[in-house]
Amino acid sequence: MKAMESAPDFVVDTAKGVYVFDEHGRRYLDAHAGLWLVNAGYGRKEIVQAMAEQAERLAWFPSFGGMANRPSLDLAERLVEILQPEGMASVFFSNDGSEAVETALKLSRLYWKSKGQPRKTKLIGRHHAYHGVTYGALSVAGITANRTLFEPFVGDVYHAPAPYVSHCAFHGPTTGCTYACVAELERMIQFQDPDTVAAFIAEPVQAAGGVIIPPPDYLARVRDLCARYHVLFIADEVVTAFGRLGTWTGSRYYGIQPDMMTFAKGLTSGYMPLGATAVSGDVFDTITSQAADGPEFRHGNTYSGHPVACAAAIANLEIIENEDLAANAQHVGEWMGQELKVLSEAYPDAAQYPGCIGLLGRIEIVPGKADKPGQRALRVAQKMKERGVIVRTAQDILTLSPPLIMTKEQGQDIIDALRQALVEEMAQL
Ligand code: PLP
Repeated sequence: MKAMESAPDFVVDTAKGVYVFDEHGRRYLDAHAGLWLVNAGYGRKEIVQAMAEQAERLAWFPSFGGMANRPSLDLAERLVEILQPEGMASVFFSNDGSEAVETALKLSRLYWKSKGQPRKTKLIGRHHAYHGVTYGALSVAGITANRTLFEPFVGDVYHAPAPYVSHCAFHGPTTGCTYACVAELERMIQFQDPDTVAAFIAEPVQAAGGVIIPPPDYLARVRDLCARYHVLFIADEVVTAFGRLGTWTGSRYYGIQPDMMTFAKGLTSGYMPLGATAVSGDVFDTITSQAADGPEFRHGNTYSGHPVACAAAIANLEIIENEDLAANAQHVGEWMGQELKVLSEAYPDAAQYPGCIGLLGRIEIVPGKADKPGQRALRVAQKMKERGVIVRTAQDILTLSPPLIMTKEQGQDIIDALRQALVEEMAQL
């Protein structure tokens, strides 16, 4: 906090495509799409126009409690259509990812109460998970540095190990994955007593934790486990949906059907704040098929289903579909993953454990002997910025999440800037 007093602000003034421009007119390739979200790229007139037209027609009207606005209904329908393979039947809107997660957590407790099993209240998250800043979301999250100053948390929340192959809690990185973290999750559920566990929440790829890419069968295995023990499976897709992994959703990438899904970020590509929680037919039917005087989902934000945000989302989804940005993410991401691998092989003392799915990538920066954790990664990021490329770090990991419109030619600037930064770091040793 002290450092903030003196740190110069990096103020971005305009943006177009994959580039942002600071107040001095300097251009940067935004290799992080802001905060993992400008999927359709900056300056999309179609989205801005849809927002302007909607604002003029109806800037706001509530969309719950027996009232609605048309864009929120249209967007809900469109999402249910897109999410057919995941088996989603209904959508609840909020303002951002944290609120989408809160909604899912509260719904999971309501679901079991509606089913006559009020003891099923416990929630399980994972180490290294990021689910947002509000108390429920933070309670199921697992990044220690974000948590400790805010304890105590929401009660009845537990954490399972992450499927972090290169830093496995059970084996060294070379032993090979035995899915020991799945076995541990099963032991946790058994120990807690499945009759008391409401839900398990997982990002298909743990983004803010350091783009932790699970082994191929992990998601299917934990999904099966949850079904076996009657624990609701919530897929937090705030980063992984809308083309990011080369598919509409991360759940689709891994071939699973969750009970609930949370969305934000790429839903509007950041043109307006919007969160969404989608639920399966079973969840929807269970909470709605109550007696007229039965439990009610007393939950909603003033701006739930904001018409301008929903209009932005509809226009954004149209771009993602019409331009097949998922296919571009897959195609360019395959190339980017290969390039990251080449770099880690060329500079093993500076970079290791590369990975990329769609356009969600990572590479770990090996700290120098005198470096504190994360220090060298920050230096590499700073050097890349000086070369006009913006990336983020999560401790020692450099994370990449460019707009899904990025071409290989544009992506080459990311790889070149990273290579030069690594060369400089090696020269300084
Ligand atoms: N869930 C995941 C997986 C996220 O990455 C984030 C934000 O980065 C959130 C939830 C919280 O979203 P928001 O910052 O919009 O509240």
